[in-house]
Amino acid sequence: MKPLILIVEDEPGIADTLQYALRTDGFEPRWCATGEAALQAAAAQVPALVILDVGLPDINGFELFKRLRERVDVPVLFLTARGDEIDRVVGLELGADDYVAKPFSPRELVARVRTVLRRTARGASANHTPAPAAAFEIDEGRRTIRFYGRALELSRYEYGLLKTLIRRPGHVFSRDTLLEQVWDDPGESLDRTVDAHVKTLRAKLKAIAPALEPIRTHRGAGYALAEDLPASQP
Ligand code: CA
Repeated sequence: MKPLILIVEDEPGIADTLQYALRTDGFEPRWCATGEAALQAAAAQVPALVILDVGLPDINGFELFKRLRERVDVPVLFLTARGDEIDRVVGLELGADDYVAKPFSPRELVARVRTVLRRTARGASANHTPAPAAAFEIDEGRRTIRFYGRALELSRYEYGLLKTLIRRPGHVFSRDTLLEQVWDDPGESLDRTVDAHVKTLRAKLKAIAPALEPIRTHRGAGYALAEDLPASQP
């Protein structure tokens, strides 16, 4: 079976070029011109990878990325029209797998798709969960997280925060990034909102494993999940 690649791009010219290049290279491309269509397509059949344009008519590409990742754990490659660094950095901090700046060569893009697929497939087949992540089990359907086998009673934002940190152990997330990824109205919230939720989250983790400090503060930078958590409770 050919790997299904979902293209989310509102410019038909670019979408055509991409579809042609992917098809020539043995992929099965599917094109969606809006974010809404992409969410439906991804729900109907989970693609092997999503190529996601940042500038979409209905949903901002970053917002769409967030919604996609809430539903399925699929590799995402961003297409960005603005050459500025911010788009790139934000794209990668969100946990996207790669990005390509427009204008791009179709051949280069297909090569990137292959690289991302190879990398993510290797991760999956090795079936290796890093120890810090092994301490936690996320149940996306029930929106609950277990810590060393015990269910945590989490508020909505605590759940979002912890889930974000668990996905990339050791990665330092700034307060702004956490607000952007977890909160509905990042503009309305303040840095100390994040701090307050981290504080209550820590207390709940401490109640289960008093000797551990799973959420580390990086002064002036943000928060990260500790990389040295044991896989089973000490
Ligand atoms: Ca666009």
